[in-house]
Amino acid sequence: MNHSTPAREATLRDTTITPTVDFDREGTQYGFLKLPYSSDQSAWGCIMIPVTVLKNGDGPTALLTGGNHGDEYEGITALLKLTQTLKAEDIQGRVIIVPAMNYPAVCSGTRTSPIDKGNMNRAFPGDPQGSITERIADYFQRYLIPQCDYALDIHSGGKTLDFIPFSAAHRLPDKKQEALCIEGARCFGTPATMIMFELDADSLYDTAVESQGKVFVTTELRGGGTTTPDSMRLADTGVSNFLKFAGILPGKPVLPDAPVMQLDMPDASCYVISTHKGILELTRNLGDTVIKGDLIARIHPLERTGTEPAEYHAQRSGILAARRYPALADMGDTLAVIADLIP
Ligand SMILES: [Zn+2]
Repeated sequence: MNHSTPAREATLRDTTITPTVDFDREGTQYGFLKLPYSSDQSAWGCIMIPVTVLKNGDGPTALLTGGNHGDEYEGITALLKLTQTLKAEDIQGRVIIVPAMNYPAVCSGTRTSPIDKGNMNRAFPGDPQGSITERIADYFQRYLIPQCDYALDIHSGGKTLDFIPFSAAHRLPDKKQEALCIEGARCFGTPATMIMFELDADSLYDTAVESQGKVFVTTELRGGGTTTPDSMRLADTGVSNFLKFAGILPGKPVLPDAPVMQLDMPDASCYVISTHKGILELTRNLGDTVIKGDLIARIHPLERTGTEPAEYHAQRSGILAARRYPALADMGDTLAVIADLIP
């Protein structure tokens, strides 16, 4: 696991990131996490990651992040909007908002950083002397996560995936913490909640936050590298719902009228992984109920005409919760995710 140990902490140098805000100061502050980066464009330059801190008296701290992946826009947009509207006097406690966690990736509209190809959500616990992405991860790991009680990290599918919108938590060894995370996901207010199974959990931001004992909620709110009015409504409501759940904003979360669909990804067989290269044709829609054995996708080979497509059949029954977004598919791509519907 990636959990920090006292031995590891002792060998780590201080971060090279300097915040221009004081996290302990009362009131509303707009500033930057300033990360020195010497480049061809700027010999003595810095990467300036925007951060907002709001503090009003005693109370819990929520850490809100978007742009962990640079092409997932609901979180980036909702958190930029929140920094315009939320003021310290509205809250009790503290809110730290970083709308563009992997700022270089967000600026280039790509999942990973153009500087080091770093995938923020595979970079934890990070390294203060590592690549730019690892340095940002380390700053969250050792400086920001420890300051929070609640963390919300808003993801979507990005350019290559599309999801039915859901908020999510993970199975955790501490069942009390797990129950709080699941309750936080429910309070976010999406039409579905998911217990997520991760293919490579160890280097995730999620795991870094959870292993520090915090209440953590993540999301997948559509995808395709853009937003829709519906997905933005969910993100905007979800952010304010999360702060209500944390007791930082007054009032109760605004929840959907219809019953919430509870989904579960119990193991890796939920993932339909491509073993062909070609043009993807999904035969079922996102949100459809599929039965084990149903045809869910074809991949048509591009190399020649008159050739049968490869067929993909559901290995389990459930709800089609995610799909590959671009039609062009390669071996190893996740074509679909089938999640269990918990009655
Ligand atoms: Zn993501």
